[in-house]
Amino acid sequence: MVCVYCGGETSVTNSRKQKRNNQVWRRRQCKACHAVFTSHEVLNLSSALMVVSGGSTKPFLSDMLFTEVLLALQDRKDCYIAAREVTSTVIGKLLKPPAEPVIEAKQISQTAAKVLKRLDRRAWLRYLAEHPSLQQTGIRK
Ligand SMILES: [Zn+2]
Repeated sequence: MVCVYCGGETSVTNSRKQKRNNQVWRRRQCKACHAVFTSHEVLNLSSALMVVSGGSTKPFLSDMLFTEVLLALQDRKDCYIAAREVTSTVIGKLLKPPAEPVIEAKQISQTAAKVLKRLDRRAWLRYLAEHPSLQQTGIRK
């Protein structure tokens, strides 16, 4: 990775593994201007996870999940932060080893519904209203 300020070469001065979200955090220093910044190595989800929906298979897009969750959480003041947390919790659950590289779209919405239910009942109900298929499986109680 080159320096964000001058484009010079950087070296890693420190790195740390974050187990919770499977990220690698790296402290870098520019060899030219000596600026210090941090980079994160993150899994490319759309390359790791495929979603089967209505007979077709597509790469998983966390933005889609985020948008759905945000819609459900729209009444909260902290809706953006909460939606980000929920999205990363859902992804963490989907990719908990041993994970399948191909999952059903329904598995994602079921997991999201569970996470939302624990966080915010109103958001959970709104999410269920947007996903009629979840109601038929008896998740609603
Ligand atoms: Zn630099």
